Amino acid sequence: MLQDKNPAKTDLSKLGEFGLIEAITKDVSLKNPSTIKGVGDDAAVMSYQDKLALASTDLLVEGVHFDLAYFPLKHLGYKAAVVNFSDIYAMNGMATQLLNGLAVSNRFPLEAIEEIYEGIKLACRIYDVDLVGGDTTSSRSGLILAPTALGVVPKGKEVYRSGAKPNDLIVVTGDLGAAYMGLLVLQRENEVFKVNPQHQPDLSPYAYVVERQLKPEARRDIIKILDELKVLPTAMIDISDGLSSEIMHITHQSGVGAQIYAEKIPIDPQTVLTAEEFNISELTAALNGGEDYELLFTISQKDYEKIQYRKEFAVIGHITEEPGDFLITQDNQKIALKAQGWNALKNKPSQK
Ligand code: ADP
Ligand code: MG
Repeated sequence: MLQDKNPAKTDLSKLGEFGLIEAITKDVSLKNPSTIKGVGDDAAVMSYQDKLALASTDLLVEGVHFDLAYFPLKHLGYKAAVVNFSDIYAMNGMATQLLNGLAVSNRFPLEAIEEIYEGIKLACRIYDVDLVGGDTTSSRSGLILAPTALGVVPKGKEVYRSGAKPNDLIVVTGDLGAAYMGLLVLQRENEVFKVNPQHQPDLSPYAYVVERQLKPEARRDIIKILDELKVLPTAMIDISDGLSSEIMHITHQSGVGAQIYAEKIPIDPQTVLTAEEFNISELTAALNGGEDYELLFTISQKDYEKIQYRKEFAVIGHITEEPGDFLITQDNQKIALKAQGWNALKNKPSQK
């Protein structure tokens, strides 16, 4: 239903692998001084001088991670790139290069692949990343995208999941749960569309949550702000799977525990309204929904005053010496966080 309509259809089998590679990479330009050689040789060449090099990859498989019935191809390419940049920012680094592996079946015409690459290239332009290579092959089943992002971080500025200390503050950026609610809206509309193809969904009341699902942004801005504020987080991770499991990654790897406060978790009003409509708690969406691509980090208490008036940040709790990860609800109950399927509040009236 949201699919970009492109009337032209060029058969991939007529084009061949090299024709396809040429078509999708011919207009790629290079911006980063660290990129010495991009597309066109057996390997890309980079030089990061005295910085640490970062690399991260995330597979995206049709039917597992996305459904083309409601995911426009250009958005898919954009999201594939951005979620990989997000992993680099989560190390406190800057993304500089992207390679993309691509497996396609012949049911896709050239124009569909070009749409995916329009999204990838747009993300690269916006985030100042050079597309320097990839691989292309055929697939007998669905579409597979395998992007790899490379990046840099100055030595000594790298931030791992493992550095959180007792009494550190737990901070999140932006707001949580919206991308998950957007997914539920898109899935619902898709079901309606299957039964009634004339159905024209009005997604305007859900514009924000749907955009958070279809066009997520990675928080490069936060890495710059932290640097300006001279705040070096003690631990950091990006929120791809939901707040609960990300907190637990930090606490497990740091050998500490955590307490977070339900009322402090930033949730957009549209997420709250949509969650009410779906009869789930917005807190469940924030804790378990995932795909928000916000940053979750811990800071030493002495850094609190540097961030306290910044609207980008919400302090949601603190690290404890005792292991164990807990949510303190508004009525002061202490509930153990679960990595997945934390649904104690599911199907109950909203906590608000
Ligand atoms: P090789 O045989 O050495 O693997 P290829 O013919 O696969 O080389 O690729 C030629 C060039 O095109 C390489 O620089 C490669 O990185 C790039 N490339 C291939 N597929 C893609 C793709 N899907 N996206 C971006 N670059 C690609
Ligand atoms: Mg190859």
